[in-house]
Amino acid sequence: MTLLDAAPRTYEVRTFGCQMNVHDSERLSGSLEAAGYVKATEGEADIVVINTCAVRENADNKLYGTLGHLASAKREHEGMQIAVGGCLAQKDKNVILEKAPWVDVVFGTHNMGSLPTLLERARHNGEAQLEILESLEVFPSTLPTRRENTYSGWVSISVGCNNTCTFCIVPSLRGKEKDRRPGDILAEIEALVADGAIEVTLLGQNVNSYGVEFGDRGAFAKLLRAAGRIEGLERIRFTSPHPAAFTDDVIDAMAETPTVMPQLHMPLQSGSDRILKAMRRSYRSERFLGILERVRDRIPHAAISTDIIVGFPGETEEDFEDTLRVVEQARFASAFTFQYSIRPGTPAATMQEQLPKEVVQERYERLIELQERISGEEAQKLVGTPIEVLVATGEGRRDERTRRMSGRAEDNRLVHFDVPDGSGTPRPGDVVSVVVTRATPHYLIAAPTDATLPIRRTRAGDAWDLAEAESCAVPTPASGARAVNLGLPGLRPA
Ligand code: SF4
Repeated sequence: MTLLDAAPRTYEVRTFGCQMNVHDSERLSGSLEAAGYVKATEGEADIVVINTCAVRENADNKLYGTLGHLASAKREHEGMQIAVGGCLAQKDKNVILEKAPWVDVVFGTHNMGSLPTLLERARHNGEAQLEILESLEVFPSTLPTRRENTYSGWVSISVGCNNTCTFCIVPSLRGKEKDRRPGDILAEIEALVADGAIEVTLLGQNVNSYGVEFGDRGAFAKLLRAAGRIEGLERIRFTSPHPAAFTDDVIDAMAETPTVMPQLHMPLQSGSDRILKAMRRSYRSERFLGILERVRDRIPHAAISTDIIVGFPGETEEDFEDTLRVVEQARFASAFTFQYSIRPGTPAATMQEQLPKEVVQERYERLIELQERISGEEAQKLVGTPIEVLVATGEGRRDERTRRMSGRAEDNRLVHFDVPDGSGTPRPGDVVSVVVTRATPHYLIAAPTDATLPIRRTRAGDAWDLAEAESCAVPTPASGARAVNLGLPGLRPA
């Protein structure tokens, strides 16, 4: 922004992709706000930033479709700038500027903090700026953040991955694993808590290899325990672990730290040992099931979710039946299921024996049917159980039209509940005590046991009030996507 500008320039960040991208978008918003831009509330923003993901199918189509629409918006909007960042930018580099020359800035996954400078430079020089770094310049968590809600936050503990799963493009786009120092992570969590957050999710492509870079194999369990001692922090989650590196010290830390929530996302990918080998995933189905058994032994009410890829090259009917068998035994609370499709740049893309689409589709439908049944049966067991729900925004489609509100139970299940007439209304960030009255595979319905809703007003709710008062705005749903997926296989989500 120059001194001559009458009003601050507005920005919008559009996120296409995984949870890592959603978190990166918070950093991008924070960097732009630190540079004087303000979030657009109506109309087309002066700066549109698209944060892309290369692992989702059709990511290219979606990006270039959006850029097509923005080209005409830009013709009508003097001074508008368009920036493209994230994994697809890291991968495609100047292809984006060749295909869409009206784009002003292309930046990669390693230099998000440069966005304001690049925008300024593009404006000043009157030409597009392309800056892609091959390695990380500043750890993303040291960049300013604009969080989408007051009650919970994401904290990166590591970026990149040292594994080489053959379907995954993350290692080539995000590079080798880089771990943040525990002191920096804890300081960031404390700062979030001081700001009103009562829930944090620790984020990494492979959280339980955390510490490999500074030579402490027990570092993740220690980090969980240390976070558990932070006063005011009520809910700790993490995503994603890797079955190969998931050790019992982490299970012990989960079980012995009351604020670590009874929830675990444990990516299976395939139940066939032959396919796991072809995927270069070093665990086998027996080890995987053993982990679940040990987790349930220590945390009996843990809700365990997973990622599964159907139709990996060479997958036979027998391999697929192995997946069904493991899914049946694993009793996942939910699963992100994906149809395999070719991701250019991954080793699996050039494997022989790519399966016909109809075969993949048919297996996929069978898997969904099985998982829906199991999710429904597992949820059904909760009917009649008292639960604590952290009230959220933007989780229930009907919420704005009715007295219904939504939030997450401790095990991260989505819960809808009605606020009885005459009862007080909780604020996002408050916690309500309700009992599950009905269960479906994807959400629970709950109600208070008497005419008033028991509400625990929290610091997070106070922070929400304060943020609303400061913005003088009508409360709006937060836009953060909920899908907990780090963009790993990310092919055709259910
Ligand atoms: S799937 Fe996960 S563990 Fe495997 S390479 Fe990708 S990020 Fe790493």
